[in-house]
Amino acid sequence: TVGIVALDTLGSMSAGTSTSGLFMKKRGRVGDSPLCGAGLYVDSDVGGAAATGLGEDIMKGCLSYEVVRLMEEGYAPEKAASEALNRFLKKMSDKGRKVGAISLICLDKEGRWGIGTNVEFSFVVADEENGAKVLLARPEK
Ligand code: ASP
Repeated sequence: TVGIVALDTLGSMSAGTSTSGLFMKKRGRVGDSPLCGAGLYVDSDVGGAAATGLGEDIMKGCLSYEVVRLMEEGYAPEKAASEALNRFLKKMSDKGRKVGAISLICLDKEGRWGIGTNVEFSFVVADEENGAKVLLARPEK
C-alpha cells in the first residue's frame, strides 16, 4: 500500500491510499486501504493518518481513525501513531492474539508528522522548504 496524508497552503487536508491488496488474497477480499477509519482517515480540523500492513488487523483496530482521535485528544503526531499502535498491540496480546505487520503515518494540521510501526518500513516526508526526504523507521523496542 502507498498511503499519503497532505496539508495544503489553505489548511485543507487530504488522505489517500493505493494498494494491490494483500499478497495471495482471496478473490473478493476487501482490505483496509479503501475503508475510511481503517486504511485512512482525515479531519482538516485535526490531522490525518494512513496505514499499511495486514488489513485484517488494521481494520480490527480502526487504526487510522484511532490515530486522528488521539491527535484530537492532544497527542502530538510524534506520539499519536505509536500510541494507537501500542494500544492495539497490547489489546491483542492480552487476548493471546498474534498481530501482523502494521505501519501508520500521520500528519496534523500544523504540518507535524509521526509514524508508528512494528516492522521496518520506509516513508517520505516532503514540504516546500526542504523538498522530499526518504526516512527509515524501525519498531520501538
Ligand atoms: N493493507 C493492505 C491490505 O491488507 C496490504 C498492504 O498494505 O500491503 O489489503
